[in-house]
Amino acid sequence: MSETLANLLQENRRFEPPAALAEAANVKSDAYAEADADRLAFWAKQAQRLDWAQEWDQVLDWSNPPFAKWFLGGTLNVAYNCLDRHVAAGKGDKVAIHWEGEPGDTRTLTYSDLHKLTCQAANALTDLGVGAGDRVAIYMPMIPEAAVAMLACARIGATHSVVFGGFSVDALSGRIQDASAKVVITADGGYRRGKPSALKPTVDEAVALCPTIEHVLVVRRTGEPVAWGDKDHWWHETVEAASTEHEAQPFDAEHPLFILYTSGTTAKPKGILHTTGGYLTQASYTHHAVFDLKPETDVYWCTADIGWVTGHSYIVYGPLSNGATQVMYEGTPDTPHKGRFWDIVDRYGVTILYTAPTLIRTMMKWGDEFPAAANLSSLRVLGSVGEPINPEAWMWYRKNIGHENTPIVDTWWQTETGAIMISPLPGVTATKPGSAMRPLPGISADVVDDEGRSVPDGGGGFLVLREPWPSMLRTIWGDDQRFIDTYWSRFQGMYFAGDGAKKDDDGDLWLLGRVDDVMLVSGHNISTTEVESALVSHPSVAEAAVVGATDPTTGQAIVAFTIPRGSVDTAGDAGEALIKELRDHVSKTLGPIAKPRQIMLVAELPKTRSGKIMRRLLRDVAEHRSLGDVTTLQDSTVMELISDGMKSAK
Ligand code: ATP
Ligand code: MG
Repeated sequence: MSETLANLLQENRRFEPPAALAEAANVKSDAYAEADADRLAFWAKQAQRLDWAQEWDQVLDWSNPPFAKWFLGGTLNVAYNCLDRHVAAGKGDKVAIHWEGEPGDTRTLTYSDLHKLTCQAANALTDLGVGAGDRVAIYMPMIPEAAVAMLACARIGATHSVVFGGFSVDALSGRIQDASAKVVITADGGYRRGKPSALKPTVDEAVALCPTIEHVLVVRRTGEPVAWGDKDHWWHETVEAASTEHEAQPFDAEHPLFILYTSGTTAKPKGILHTTGGYLTQASYTHHAVFDLKPETDVYWCTADIGWVTGHSYIVYGPLSNGATQVMYEGTPDTPHKGRFWDIVDRYGVTILYTAPTLIRTMMKWGDEFPAAANLSSLRVLGSVGEPINPEAWMWYRKNIGHENTPIVDTWWQTETGAIMISPLPGVTATKPGSAMRPLPGISADVVDDEGRSVPDGGGGFLVLREPWPSMLRTIWGDDQRFIDTYWSRFQGMYFAGDGAKKDDDGDLWLLGRVDDVMLVSGHNISTTEVESALVSHPSVAEAAVVGATDPTTGQAIVAFTIPRGSVDTAGDAGEALIKELRDHVSKTLGPIAKPRQIMLVAELPKTRSGKIMRRLLRDVAEHRSLGDVTTLQDSTVMELISDGMKSAK
């Protein structure tokens, strides 16, 4: 990207918080001024949300940037903060997790249940020789034992590395090797799309490539037959036989809590390292502030998988440290029918829902009748994370899920940031559809140009973070130099997030996708997000992905892949007419510079396992190259379909 991003999309809609919610909100507008006045004092106050065995001497040590130390000298135990202290406060019988398996089986775990199981798992891991500082890989379906495994590691000071249960032998073994993990915790399998999906065979193959693995702990979930070796132990024979008594030891605030590899949308996965005190402080505070969580009355549901950072911070550590009651669901959103999510919201009376734009757009494609069939009146805050949310998807979410009055918090953050960084506050912010609005109190984000100068309101450029924050990554596991090169070298003294962004005339922030995806058309930098949002604003479109393909006249030309909404007729001439209409629609909405050279109507888009569009592969198709690495692709047949469609369209 040479200079700044063109600002194309105009959005004038505003939504004030409902008065009652604003009145009772956990965090009010004065939090911004308080944090601005003394950022470190603000974070020190938030750290008091936790129980510390030993209070810190210094809030932040930034004497050796970019290597930050937060809450120096402080000690605490993460699992104690998520479990023991709630039980000690008389909340042992409160439901921690309403779990629902894909086949419809359910389990209810109270804080006391979760505490006992975690103590047992901590004892079992200790018996297997796992101690503080050792690494443990976790490769699990979405069952309560996944959270227990993470908490048990935290409890004994072992560093967990959760690997998404859909990843291949290569991905799993690569991550085990990179961290020299000693133990893998897994299951025979989980349920996906109506049938058992095995995990243990992948672990067996990976372990054969990983000599550091001494033991494999296996939860029985599906009951499918599994191969059994010397290193294997059944969870029900070891963990469930262990003592439920376990005293948690405090660890240093900078003790490594977990490694999580970024999804690899762009390059070789990086082992992002998070530590203890600062991470838990920000995960807990943001969960309280951004979702306005009232632990006594709310039922919270985050639809992410624990394999992603969202599952770490907003299924396990944020909600449990706050004593929340939450729903955890094992399976896919359309099993056995496309209303499954809304059934769950209805049945458990979910009040706070946190999901991803990819799911919202999929639901748009399926049609309004599915949410309409359920009672969603319990919902009071809606969240979004993972990609920019297109304004029309935001509006659909508000109308069809949020009964036209529920605040939507569009939360920008990354694996690297550990917790939410930019987001509306539901009781404070007058939201704009598609904007993540402002940095949270205590966070200093900015948009800068090529030279690192702050752009004025109305300008676009690179998103940066100017000051260290408590839950920031501490390094890339085993590779300090890559940490410096990747995040701290592009701009002097600033963290470079890799995302494009703009400030609107009010100074509110709009995320514009990855800098690598920005298109250069006739000398103008144009964001994929804005063109995609223009396409999604057409009533016939559910989802769109846009890439820049080499073009002899304009340098790059815009090629769009578009999924029509369920009811739209695209056969023959109707398809041609729609394509013409869409090209004109983009031109009218954003200006002629953004008019796509070519629009393809497709049934699916290539996405990562976490649901993000892989534009890199679409660029290959648009430029007629052979396809790049597809290993993190959710469904590899999608690319064949698109490539075939591309050929027949010419
Ligand atoms: P990799 O870094 O391996 O390519 P990834 O960036 O997809 O993978 P994550 O850390 O899960 O892995 O995702 C963070 C990225 O997701 C952000 O940098 C941003 O591009 C995008 N993102 C997340 N939330 C939002 C949001 N609310 N608005 C816009 N973009 C978002
Ligand atoms: Mg990233």
